Amino acid sequence: MNALAVEGVWKYYGDYPALRDINLTCEAGSCLALIGRNGAGKTTLLRTIAGFSRPMKGAIKILGGSPRETATRRNVGFIGHGIAVYDELSALENLMLYARLYGLTDARTKALQWLTETGLERVRDGLVREFSRGMRQRLAVARAFLHEPSLLLLDEPFTALDDRAIAVLQRLLREALAQGRTVVMSTHQLREALELATHVTMLNRGQVAFDGPCTPEMVADPGLVYARYGEG
Ligand code: ATP
Repeated sequence: MNALAVEGVWKYYGDYPALRDINLTCEAGSCLALIGRNGAGKTTLLRTIAGFSRPMKGAIKILGGSPRETATRRNVGFIGHGIAVYDELSALENLMLYARLYGLTDARTKALQWLTETGLERVRDGLVREFSRGMRQRLAVARAFLHEPSLLLLDEPFTALDDRAIAVLQRLLREALAQGRTVVMSTHQLREALELATHVTMLNRGQVAFDGPCTPEMVADPGLVYARYGEG
């Protein structure tokens, strides 16, 4: 079953086509690494898939539904460039707030569980405004996983994480994939991403330049796809 289907999607900023006829599918339980140079369209595509921005042409299906339906949103976890947590609340308060928004009955238990998973247990009562960038990014990870979504959409999730936190996120993603959940992540950190990816899609100026399975050859030489299909 496809967890995600992107069909003929176009998106313009003014008269600049940031996405040009994007087609891709993602089977449930797979991990897609979305790669491409700065400005290739990765963020625009992830935001469109997440339903934050509407495609001008084409359609997106997530778990059989539309990205903008409430039922679909409850089943999606998102990490974007803004981390979407409240500065004036503590880490625990933030997660409890989101847990309630997602309709979880055991909000406090779930919040505490994900603070522990992301190594933020000790600072759970600290205000987010006092957190370092790395701590904020860990909290963004906790928020995305909190409601155990079927589809995780992650824009540069490894950015701002130290090596230990990268290893933690990789473990969490591995566990999510083993449970049959689906991951789509954009990244410049090829090595970390390709270790997990089952598929690779490379965008070039808003178009799909490469789309295929992640091979052992790519894992051994993460620059390979850029070398073969990039613009140089
Ligand atoms: P990066 O790796 O730098 O995050 P990206 O692959 O995520 O890049 P996007 O951020 O999706 O690329 O941008 C794709 C193109 O659309 C770029 O040329 C960018 O300048 C342009 N663009 C993105 N957002 C806007 C906007 N809000 N208004 C106008 N142009 C935009």
